[in-house]
Amino acid sequence: MGVIVLKKSQEKNGPGFRLGLKNCDISLQELLNQMNRFIEAGGLPRLWPEQIRQCAGCHLCCHEPLPVTSIDLFNICRALEIDFIEAFKYLNLEVDGKVLDITLKRSNGACIFLNKQGRCRIYNDRPFLCQTYICCHVHEAVEELRSQVVNQGMDELVRLAILRFKKEGKALPVSRGKTKSISLTDWPKNCFSGKNTYAELLLENVLSSDLKKVLLV
Ligand code: SF4
Ligand code: SF4
Repeated sequence: MGVIVLKKSQEKNGPGFRLGLKNCDISLQELLNQMNRFIEAGGLPRLWPEQIRQCAGCHLCCHEPLPVTSIDLFNICRALEIDFIEAFKYLNLEVDGKVLDITLKRSNGACIFLNKQGRCRIYNDRPFLCQTYICCHVHEAVEELRSQVVNQGMDELVRLAILRFKKEGKALPVSRGKTKSISLTDWPKNCFSGKNTYAELLLENVLSSDLKKVLLV
């Protein structure tokens, strides 16, 4: 039996899946690998069964704003062979007071990486949220895990963006809001700092102790 347990379940609103962990000494990349295998194995009832029964790129989930982490952006840079600053042409930055949200840009209501054939152009390197989404009912602990990873990962991306754009003598490329309320002191280093891949990041260092208690089996 592996360290990660993924199994079909009956959730409040219908059939779905649950995630359990034997321990938290595994990397986020191992979690992603198992999620991808679980999705590829298929057999989960979907929210839109008339559209598709298994995830084969129907792209219905590629039309919402998609928050990204620092590691998501490094993966995009590697996939497209571009540097950190250039990768911001694919991102949407919105400031609201002292909060800065970073999401993938959209074109005609769809993710910028969705091609005309309805396929993801960066599928193997798609962001954490894309790799952990299955359109079925999920236990709230899975949603909480996704939030905790992405919130910390986006905080690190904001911190790096402030530093790198300042070093280049450029303004942050925000599409809405004013950058003067954005201060580096509001984004201290966290568990994502210094990490370039999800293989370097352990669940132990990312999840809250309350969430670990819920997920440990
Ligand atoms: S996860 Fe997304 S791409 Fe896959 S079947 Fe569901 S809506 Fe379609
Ligand atoms: S990165 Fe790919 S999988 Fe994720 S929303 Fe965009 S097109 Fe869809």
